[in-house]
Amino acid sequence: MDLKTLYRSVIMDHYKNPKNKGLINDENYLTVHLNNPTCGDDIIVQLLVKDEKIIDLRHQGKGCSICCAAASVASELLKNKSIEEALNLTQNYYDLLMGKELLNKNILEDALAFEGVGQFPARIKCATLAFKAYEKGLDPLKGDN
Ligand code: ZN
Repeated sequence: MDLKTLYRSVIMDHYKNPKNKGLINDENYLTVHLNNPTCGDDIIVQLLVKDEKIIDLRHQGKGCSICCAAASVASELLKNKSIEEALNLTQNYYDLLMGKELLNKNILEDALAFEGVGQFPARIKCATLAFKAYEKGLDPLKGDN
């Protein structure tokens, strides 16, 4: 199996069997709603942060396979990370899509599968929507003790 085929199967697997899908009715969760009108992607994410650590991430929405798969991948990648680590991983993910050289690609785990999306500028928004939503929730908490 070549890398392209492997990456495609990772994306399809997350699309068909999304992790951490479904919202939680709990006021301790931060909720962020974002959409991407160019593709029709619409997503709501939730974050539960305790002691500057992300203990749970949830997502729910409608969208293309890339958007939905990325929401699942993000929810796994950022789980149990500190706010700083999560924002750093998110930045690394954006850099990957922009074709920048990363010091250590492997920290991105399944998110590496989206590397090829960078070749389709119209789809970059699909691949980053969930990450942007999580980032929007985390950004105000940055450096907050
Ligand atoms: Zn999309």
